[in-house]
Amino acid sequence: MNSRRRFLQKMAITAAGLPLLRFQSLAGNFRRDEPVLRVAMMGLGGYANRVADAMKACTKAKIVGAISGTPTKLSDWQQRFGIPVKNCYNYENFDQIKHNPDIDVVYITTPNALHHSQVLRVAAAGKHVICEKPMALNAKEGQEMVDACRKAGVQLLVGYRMHFEPKTLAITEMRKRNEFGKIMFFQGQCGFRIGDPTQWRLNKELAGGGSIMDIGIYAINGARYMVGEEPVWITAQEIKTDPVKFKPGVDETIQFQMGFPSGAIASCLSTYNMNYLDRFYLNGEKGFAELQPSTGYGPIKGRTNQGELTQPHVTHQTVQMEEMADILLRGKKPAIPVDGAEGVRDLKIIDAIYAAVRSGKREML
Ligand code: NDP
Repeated sequence: MNSRRRFLQKMAITAAGLPLLRFQSLAGNFRRDEPVLRVAMMGLGGYANRVADAMKACTKAKIVGAISGTPTKLSDWQQRFGIPVKNCYNYENFDQIKHNPDIDVVYITTPNALHHSQVLRVAAAGKHVICEKPMALNAKEGQEMVDACRKAGVQLLVGYRMHFEPKTLAITEMRKRNEFGKIMFFQGQCGFRIGDPTQWRLNKELAGGGSIMDIGIYAINGARYMVGEEPVWITAQEIKTDPVKFKPGVDETIQFQMGFPSGAIASCLSTYNMNYLDRFYLNGEKGFAELQPSTGYGPIKGRTNQGELTQPHVTHQTVQMEEMADILLRGKKPAIPVDGAEGVRDLKIIDAIYAAVRSGKREML
């Protein structure tokens, strides 16, 4: 076959195949019979790399784009994930993503204080958004993000990976079936000893706070899905042993308590000053459940009054992105919500925890 005929034949095949391009160009793990979620990662730091590596095992979602302030990271990601140059942006020009039909969703993994403005810009560009926790610095910002996405007709999800974790889901299902009886008490202990004092997590401007924003949010969120209710009151106490490392507005350790409408109570600890602190305990009139570790990358381990939990370990970020593809593309409803409204509920509690630390009084929600 001469080269002109080969060229024409190739063109004809390409033209006929255009409607299927979205499926066929995404070879490898991907199914041919349903669209794949095409993801651009924003902020190529530690967590973005973890998510992108985990997504290599996805069958329903794929990294196709990247947004970064560091040009060398963009070229590295182009190599590692086969990202075309045309799908790479920086923080100045990423609004242009609105003209890129090859990207469905932007996954924001930048420091907390940047989430609000970045979500608003992605929504204005007409793309769905997945935003890492904490979704914003406070409930007001979070609600503005929800409103902006609704107005733009795009979906906003929060990177709550535990909402898809099998042992976590097993306990919430048992609680819904009343296997623990009336829920009386939840204990959530979340912390680690933070290192480098110059990192953004210890900078109020970028982090919005301290341990509560970063790790204590797991106890807040966990209390809500383990108890299955929204708290109505909060009390909280802050302990600071190192005011040089933990500047004003950056909490080192906070203990907080929550009361729920049924009368159940929660007692939680959030800290940047202790290791081996990753435990949930749920107590009911007929039984108990315990997860330890409860929110790390796993394997999560757990037991109830009925015995060990035996659900197999999954890579949280792989499962999260498979499920988020079903939510964004096929309207699936997750067992525990991961939408913007869910993120705002946690932020209202964080606002109340900081208010209770300041006032020393019980704050009503
Ligand atoms: P990193 O510091 O590792 O990465 C953040 C990235 O954001 C940077 O590498 C940089 O990427 C970009 N960035 C843009 N502006 C700034 C700035 N002013 N200062 C620092 N970085 C900037 O943080 P993580 O990846 O650990 O955390 C990112 C987000 O993900 C946080 O909101 C965090 O809470 C969340 N997270 C969630 C986890 C989970 O399990 N769900 C686990 C860990 C983090 P670039 O150079 O490409 O611009």
